[in-house]
Amino acid sequence: MTSQDILNIRNFSIIAHIDHGKSTLADRMLECTHTVSKRLMVNQFLDSMELERERGITIKLKAVKMTYVSNDISYILNLIDTPGHVDFSYEVSRSLVACEGAILLVDATQGVQAQTVAVVDKAFSYGLKVIPVVNKIDLPYAMVEQTALDIVKTFGFKQNEILFSSGKSGEGIDKILQKIVEVIPPPQGDLKKPFRALIFDSSFDEHLGVLASVRVVDGSLAVNEKIKFFKTNQSSSALKVGVMAPNFCDYSPLSAGEVGILATGLKDIKQVRVGDTVSKQGISTEPLLGYNEPKPVVFLGLYPLNSSRFLDLRKALERLSLNDASLSYEPESGGALGHGFKCGFLGLLHAEIIQERIEREFNLEVVSTTPTVAYKVSLTDGVAIFCSSASFFPDPSKIDFIEEPVCELTIYVPSQYMGKVIDLCSQKRATILENNFVGNVELQRVKLKFIMPLAEMITDFYDRLKSISSGYASLDYEIVGYAKVDAVKLSILVAETAVDALSRIAYRGKALDLGRQIITALKETLPKEQFPVALQAAIGGAIIARETIPAMRKTVTQKLYGGDVTRKNKLLDRQKEGKARLKQMGLGRVQITKKAFWKVVKIG
Ligand code: GDP
Ligand code: MG
Repeated sequence: MTSQDILNIRNFSIIAHIDHGKSTLADRMLECTHTVSKRLMVNQFLDSMELERERGITIKLKAVKMTYVSNDISYILNLIDTPGHVDFSYEVSRSLVACEGAILLVDATQGVQAQTVAVVDKAFSYGLKVIPVVNKIDLPYAMVEQTALDIVKTFGFKQNEILFSSGKSGEGIDKILQKIVEVIPPPQGDLKKPFRALIFDSSFDEHLGVLASVRVVDGSLAVNEKIKFFKTNQSSSALKVGVMAPNFCDYSPLSAGEVGILATGLKDIKQVRVGDTVSKQGISTEPLLGYNEPKPVVFLGLYPLNSSRFLDLRKALERLSLNDASLSYEPESGGALGHGFKCGFLGLLHAEIIQERIEREFNLEVVSTTPTVAYKVSLTDGVAIFCSSASFFPDPSKIDFIEEPVCELTIYVPSQYMGKVIDLCSQKRATILENNFVGNVELQRVKLKFIMPLAEMITDFYDRLKSISSGYASLDYEIVGYAKVDAVKLSILVAETAVDALSRIAYRGKALDLGRQIITALKETLPKEQFPVALQAAIGGAIIARETIPAMRKTVTQKLYGGDVTRKNKLLDRQKEGKARLKQMGLGRVQITKKAFWKVVKIG
């Protein structure tokens, strides 16, 4: 590798909304560059995870090296695949940092979507060269011209910069490859400087230990050389050095500008942090600018359906967190639910994907509680704590004020649904920031921006947005900070005993409603006892809702024929006494059944 060779490298990713055809375009590129032969091609080649295939979405990014010849010059094209969903925006940042350019792919039947706008903004902010492409032009109802105009209006591209393609027929693919070579700058890097590389992904291999996906910035690294990691101060040696083309190939040394894989031999994935810089031992260099580590924002309890499989669940979470730094978990005890884990996720889709992977890859059935957010509680002694569960909610007398995470929502929707969307958002405690027509007039599309509490966003918001807009609304959200909230601990009492596992942290304005729903659900599901059971919802000392489950009535009077009322009453009285005695002796403590628990924890 020479400094001249670096000039022939292009590192790029593809930015597209889900289903706009990114994986299919990648397939065509793999074919066009003869990286994968037609015979071995399967659709969405890069989405190798079974779950990704089935859902047709990309979760983990993958980097693949292709060779492309143009005007007799051979170029190395490194395609870094990125996921399209907002929950994985962390992975998107990671791949963008490793590139100099990106293809912006827009489905000609759908137009520009909100999430795409957010990602393109990010790409511009990293200084990437963006190539706009209108895709799926083969479809009979494709709005090719409108979509091009939409791209021009939304991002400020020139009309003549826009390319057109079909991942289905292969039309336009060669033009895209040609354009990549022409307009995306080669990586900058200095071969003579000491080796430095940015880690943008990691995975685990039984034999080779942690595999780091790296973008080399300066110098080069050969197999067996000694390496070190800045953040964790861990040392190791490069057991293997190579590239994915598309399967692993030994390729050593890996030099400035290149993208590849480095096997570290390390058994503990925490030693190899995404965003960290890897360099050689004994040579001093400055670390590269990494990026912020993701912070889980949505929490929910995961419990094994069969409580004897708690340890299996722990093993599954351990394994999954190996290549997903954003997944957090800690043991939690949930009363009748048994033992499980309180898990932290980047968003609801992330939570759903993890749950499904546990069920599939570990053959373990799990159930989940309603998602919650972490409240920031500032105490009167000046300390602030994060609290996502009612059991740890501080005593109100010790609380100074409470804040909750809020997000900024961007919604694109055809204008006829605008009123309904605004209504829904105001029910969800949102404030509107912006309300504009975008793109050309024929599309009649409105861009709405709101600030909304994350707690409202993570319940049924997305489903309701989709249903009121007949599926047309597109949504992007970003956590922007914390805002003060009047939140309370909503305690649930069963037979005068507070049950923490059923209690919640709730916005005061919705606590009454929520309390009623929970009490009603308990009344419907708890079995009758021999004595009446009081169900109460309380805030502090004040009962805000109550119901009673009547006592089971044994048919003590059945054996009496005829109408001897006094005798009948006597029998009933005796039964009552018995029940009172039972209750006093504490023998009749109410068992909260699993069924009742599940009904309550699902209330959002
Ligand atoms: P991704 O979510 O962006 O990776 O999108 P995929 O590549 O998985 O494509 C989503 C769906 O659109 C799949 O059913 C593809 O077969 C289809 N598709 C992708 N590109 C084209 C295209 O150019 N034309 C047509 N007609 N369908 C396409
Ligand atoms: Mg895909």
